[in-house]
Amino acid sequence: MQQASLKVNEVFESLQGEGSYTGAPSIFVRLQGCPVGCSWCDTKHTWQINLEDESSSEDVMAQNFESSQWFTVTPASLFDLFSQQGYVAKHIVITGGEPCMFDLRDLTELAHSLGYTTQIETSGTFEILCSSKTWVTVSPKVNMKGGYEMREDALLRANEIKHPVAMQKHIDELDSLLTLLPKDKQPLIYLQPISQQKRATDFAVKTCIQRNWRLSLQTHKFIGLE
Ligand code: SF4
Repeated sequence: MQQASLKVNEVFESLQGEGSYTGAPSIFVRLQGCPVGCSWCDTKHTWQINLEDESSSEDVMAQNFESSQWFTVTPASLFDLFSQQGYVAKHIVITGGEPCMFDLRDLTELAHSLGYTTQIETSGTFEILCSSKTWVTVSPKVNMKGGYEMREDALLRANEIKHPVAMQKHIDELDSLLTLLPKDKQPLIYLQPISQQKRATDFAVKTCIQRNWRLSLQTHKFIGLE
């Protein structure tokens, strides 16, 4: 059976620095393409899928800087790549870009059959197609330039919601999204201060305590990891 192919911007092994899996050794698979248009996005090089940026996996893996280059790979070939690289982590984080622009069922189901756990980090603006065992992190993006609406089915599928915050307006946005979910289907909520600013961090800490939510601190940035 032909597997859905993926356009990959970057693959690397590190520690997951955010949310429930903080501290877990992980293989990150960053997919190319995102039309959501967040102004503070720190992966703008993944936004466009330009045909002239298509490259080989060897060239993309050899790069040690941010680039808009990408390569096409099937899920099975991706696991060959993990072996070639000598990766030992057993948790795979599929990120982007917006990974849910791709059908991720083949990749996540194959990963689970090989003994990996999987996680998707998504904006929640596309349908999430993945294994039922995948841990889904929705980081809601509301009123962004691309004009994409948050999807109720994405919120319902979320195991955790990781919300970037700097001010009360962001909490109000989150509250209005949470009203879409039944009381018994509320996921874990993590607040993540935007850009590690002190004011945003203080605000997130105060709100987490008031609301009994959790704090996510992008710990990888504090210890100099990608
Ligand atoms: S959804 Fe993610 S990758 Fe896309 S623009 Fe927003 S922050 Fe960047």
